[in-house]
Amino acid sequence: MNGPVFLSVVVPMYNEEEVIETTYRRLTTALDPIGETYELVFVNDGSRDNTAKIVRRIGAEDPRVKMVDFSRNFGHQIAVTAGMDYSSGRVVALIDADLQDPPELIPEMIAKWREGYDVIYGQRIARKGESFFKKWTAAMFYRLLRSMTSVSIPVDTGDFRLMDRKVCDALSSMREQSRFIRGMVSWAGFRQTALEYVREERFAGETKYPLRKMIRLSLDAITSFSTKPLKFAGVLGFAMSAIGFIYLLVVIFQHIFTNTTLKGWTSMVVISLLFHGITLMLLGVLGEYIGRTYEEAKRRPLYLVADRLNFEDDPGEDGREARPSAAAQGKNVSKEPIGAGHRS
Ligand code: UDP
Ligand code: MG
Repeated sequence: MNGPVFLSVVVPMYNEEEVIETTYRRLTTALDPIGETYELVFVNDGSRDNTAKIVRRIGAEDPRVKMVDFSRNFGHQIAVTAGMDYSSGRVVALIDADLQDPPELIPEMIAKWREGYDVIYGQRIARKGESFFKKWTAAMFYRLLRSMTSVSIPVDTGDFRLMDRKVCDALSSMREQSRFIRGMVSWAGFRQTALEYVREERFAGETKYPLRKMIRLSLDAITSFSTKPLKFAGVLGFAMSAIGFIYLLVVIFQHIFTNTTLKGWTSMVVISLLFHGITLMLLGVLGEYIGRTYEEAKRRPLYLVADRLNFEDDPGEDGREARPSAAAQGKNVSKEPIGAGHRS
């Protein structure tokens, strides 16, 4: 397909062999009636199953299907970033591979875009088929985040959204390692609006977001959008010092004017445990920030691409150094990237 496309749909995939074929069909069925050119940018985030193979098979027949194939699993937010880097549409939509977000909403989002909005994000009014624990932690998290950040990140909003090219370019220019895309979109500003929808059950397969990854995402979100935990550490330290000072006066008073001083063993243990606990916790908070600063200081590329499918021009050409593909590709040409040979 030549010429600029109107719409790019970015689909991150991690072990999604069970759903990808259906996702492709639902997407094309929803998008064909719009009557605009579009591309589907699948990003294979180091799947260990047949996801890449299936996309290659679909892509052999449909040149609108493109794929960025990572060298390993880099994580959902990074996969979405890569998809945006490689997309060329006038508008760019982000959608999960598991059909929890209805592709049928994309035409409505485009209609909103035509009204003049730059970002149209899906806001979940209900979440089906997700455990009470997941819903509850998600709800808590969005509210905690809102109370901590100065950027107003809308609640109950995932990454399902449509963006104008200029917003997409703005995000692509932000190369931080700890990425929380919905927050970065809020930070970017522009004209934003919500479109409410019901989040469906996962079509097939398991969630690829176990508690461990959710905690990581939450920490990324908080540390990249707020320094309140650090300030909180200062305030808490100050409060504890004040309490300590008052108790110091009490102890001195007791020592001089009474003879009960030796009885204090229990209170010593309690104070010691409490203060050490708090100190260690605050060190942990510091560590979260320092660790992230260290990651950023290394300035590594966000991801490495092992192979690409159906991209005719080298996406590194525009000289955006942030796209590591050129470097990664340069090293791989002689090696014949994995899987490039057998396109059925
Ligand atoms: N995903 C990914 N890399 C990962 C984990 C997930 O690309 O390391 C993709 C996954 O294939 C899906 C999307 O991110 O398209 C959202 O993941 P999932 O549906 O498992 O999360 P949940 O909806 O349960 O929060
Ligand atoms: Mg899902």
